[in-house]
Order: sequence, then structure tokens, then C-alpha cells
Amino acid sequence: MTNFISEPDENSYHNIGYDHAPDVQKLSELMMKVKGKTIDDQTRCEHWHSPLDIIAIKFKCCNEYYPCYECHEETVNHKPEVWKKEEWDTKAILCGVCKKELTIHQYFNSNNHCPNCGAAFNPKCSRHYHLYFEK
Ligand SMILES: [Zn+2]
Ligand SMILES: [Zn+2]
Ligand SMILES: [Zn+2]
Repeated sequence: MTNFISEPDENSYHNIGYDHAPDVQKLSELMMKVKGKTIDDQTRCEHWHSPLDIIAIKFKCCNEYYPCYECHEETVNHKPEVWKKEEWDTKAILCGVCKKELTIHQYFNSNNHCPNCGAAFNPKCSRHYHLYFEK
């Protein structure tokens, strides 16, 4: 009689789909860079945390990254300032997946996918563009 210990099934260890568990070290690194109410290491926040909510936006008023306008509003005591059209070659978008900074033009031309890592961005963010960017 042999004691047969079955090999663990490789697949059971693979992340199938999205893994929500934040890596503590990565999270603290990210929180140094992104202010507000982040809840994971891909810039999701208390307000917006679907699988697609993976960008942070730098605010012109304070030159700091926030996951969303509500985070900014609840964290600072000033009115948000929007990026003017002639400033859209500024790097003001942070991809939470690869941590690459994109210019506003790159973001608008990205078809809602990170040009660096291919991660999908939330197309519904466009409803709030006026809160970050000049129309
Ligand atoms: Zn600000
Ligand atoms: Zn937020
Ligand atoms: Zn990316």
C-alpha cells in the first residue's frame, strides 16, 4: 500500500480572472503616489471600484493623483481645477495596473485601453471628464 499524495492541480493555483486581494506592500507604495481613499493597489477607491476602475487622475490644482473627484473633494479644502486643452500633453493619468503615466491626449486616444499594458479602462469615466478636463 503506497501513500499516494496527489500532485496539486496546477490550475487551482492560477488566478483565473481578477484577483481582488491587495498586496500590502504595493498598496502602500501606491498610496504614497495616489491620495484619497484607495482600497487596493490598482487605484480603485471607496467610490469607484469595478474591475475597470483602474486609473488615477492628477488634479491640476494640487498636482496630486486621486482615484476620483470624490476622493479629491473629501480630502482637500479647495475647488478642483480642470486641465485646459493646451495642457493635455501633460502626464496626468496613471494606469493602476502597470503604473505608467499617460498624457491626457494619450488617454483620450487610448480607446479605453492602456497603451502600455492593454488593461481595459472604464468607458463610463467619460461621463465625468468635465470634472477633470476642460470641455
Ligand atoms: Zn486639488
Ligand atoms: Zn474615490
Ligand atoms: Zn497599464
